[in-house]
Amino acid sequence: INAFGGRYWVKLQIEANYDGHGHLVGFTEIREDISIQKKLEELWMTDQLTGLYNRSKLDELFDAELRRAKRYGTHFSLLLLDIDHFTQINDTQGHLVGDDVLYAVSNILQKNIRDVDILGRWGGEEFMLILPNTNQSDALILAEKLRNILRSHAFTPVNKVTVSIGISSFVAGLTEDELFKRADDALYRAKAKGRDRVELGMGSDNDA
Ligand code: GH3
Ligand code: MG
Ligand code: MG
Repeated sequence: INAFGGRYWVKLQIEANYDGHGHLVGFTEIREDISIQKKLEELWMTDQLTGLYNRSKLDELFDAELRRAKRYGTHFSLLLLDIDHFTQINDTQGHLVGDDVLYAVSNILQKNIRDVDILGRWGGEEFMLILPNTNQSDALILAEKLRNILRSHAFTPVNKVTVSIGISSFVAGLTEDELFKRADDALYRAKAKGRDRVELGMGSDNDA
């Protein structure tokens, strides 16, 4: 808290002072306001339209989750979610409405996942979810839940928005790229099969 009652981030450094005989005579405290540094960190990792994590932060968190799974043998799953025919929304209603839809979708997603789940905006109208300690069948349950919530939500002025979702789950030996590709391929299949559906990544369905 600063002199005006506002909160700020501070870096605190405390040094012990000794006299010529090695006796402790006191401490020196150095305070440094690092609010700007914190703000920059926040800007760097945040998507400005939705307020979600951006792609570079997602990369970092994905990497951390993969290391954790490898180290501790835990599960985790990855969801790629893409809004169906989003170009049509932009073309018929305009980009501002498109932006509103993106913002609304991001809020709905955030509201319907757990605190520990990681949600970010991967690209234009594509979102990524990293689900710690979640196997493929639990990821499928969540994906279907999100798909249904979104398709039955009354967006204005766009009535109906549907999404396609690809899932992949961690299995030992998979690299980050392979894991991502499985989710991406699954998403592609969901699109090819007619959209508004969830597809599982191949070869990762043998987990517990
Ligand atoms: P599909 O069902 O195959 O996903 O079709 P689609 O039209 O959603 O797919 P496509 O990836 O071809 O188009 C995505 C569009 O999203 C194109 C781009 O103009 C739009 N878009 C990307 N970022 C933004 C944004 O920040 N705001 C708005 N309004 N539109 C965006
Ligand atoms: Mg897309
Ligand atoms: Mg799309």
